[in-house]
Amino acid sequence: MSHPMDDTLAALPLPALAIDGSERIIAANDEASDLIGQGVHGRNYVIMLRQPVLLDTIERVLGDGRDRVSQYLANDGIQDTTYQVTVRVVGSQRTLLLCFLDVTHLEQAGQMRRDFVANVSHELRTPLTALMGFIETLRGPAKNDATARDRFLDIMEGEAGRMNRLVGDLLSLSRVEGDERVRPRDQVNLNDILGSVFRTLKQLADEANVTLEPEFGDVSVEVTGDADQLMQVFTNLIENAIKYGASGGRVTVRIEMTQRDPALRAPGIRIHVIDYGPGIDSIHLPRLTERFYRADSHRSRALGGTGLGLAIVKHIINRHRGRLRIESELGQGTRFTVVLPMTPAQAETELTD
Ligand code: ADP
Repeated sequence: MSHPMDDTLAALPLPALAIDGSERIIAANDEASDLIGQGVHGRNYVIMLRQPVLLDTIERVLGDGRDRVSQYLANDGIQDTTYQVTVRVVGSQRTLLLCFLDVTHLEQAGQMRRDFVANVSHELRTPLTALMGFIETLRGPAKNDATARDRFLDIMEGEAGRMNRLVGDLLSLSRVEGDERVRPRDQVNLNDILGSVFRTLKQLADEANVTLEPEFGDVSVEVTGDADQLMQVFTNLIENAIKYGASGGRVTVRIEMTQRDPALRAPGIRIHVIDYGPGIDSIHLPRLTERFYRADSHRSRALGGTGLGLAIVKHIINRHRGRLRIESELGQGTRFTVVLPMTPAQAETELTD
């Protein structure tokens, strides 16, 4: 049963349907059928749409002829989806046009923003509460106790340091997110970058009794990248490997070239950061790069982690059009692999070599 409005609705790029005063759906496009069910023509809209909020809106528009906006909730088989539905009167008759605008991503962005603010507040509040407690104690019970004062000041310094690191990481994250769409242009030398990261982390490794094992071969590797950001990527990864994988006693960093990386579908450079520590349970792996996600939050906090390191790493690698792969086996260790696109000049050298 086709209706003159069907052709018009078919031209709309979003689910749309029309109903009339007899409570029937008189026209609908394919997008609407996909959303609310097949064979909608001539059916009662109450049966097809079913959701009380939307039905209530339709009734009110039918009652007073005034346009309104409502909501329709669905599921696309992968996730819950949210549609904003405009319910408008067409012409002077009691015909209504319903258009369904998918606002799922807006809803999700709003939810992420709320979660993020809640997380940041929580992360800042913990050290702040400790600081306030110690200030109180220093003013009162420990006022004249020099030994206690020194101990408390040490703890307070640690807590202030934690807040400082958190704010530093938050600023990094926001900077990195800000320029994620701007491609880096400089030619940088990976050996130099990794060498400099090794020098920075040498002391931390010594303190943790971890040997750093560079396996760069004798090739000099150039990539198109932002030197400071790549420093940050490898500092975060190698520092994590030292901190969390210290029990393995060594951390290997290996550079590998490949003429065809399956993920990039192009020549790539792989940098592996491998530790031989306790590893990470596979249930955590897919979420590890989310902000504030920790596989072992007790350890992370004890080691002064902010939970933002891998989120920063992921954003920087995205900006470089690269990939991050995480593989781990409990009790064996963890391997983080950064894959970066090879520059055409480097690919050329590799081919002729
Ligand atoms: P954090 O500041 O907590 O270190 P990251 O974003 O750098 O935050 O890392 C997220 C979590 O991933 C850490 O809390 C830790 O549980 C886990 N993790 C990261 N690297 C390793 C590793 N090499 N071995 C074991 N666990 C790791």
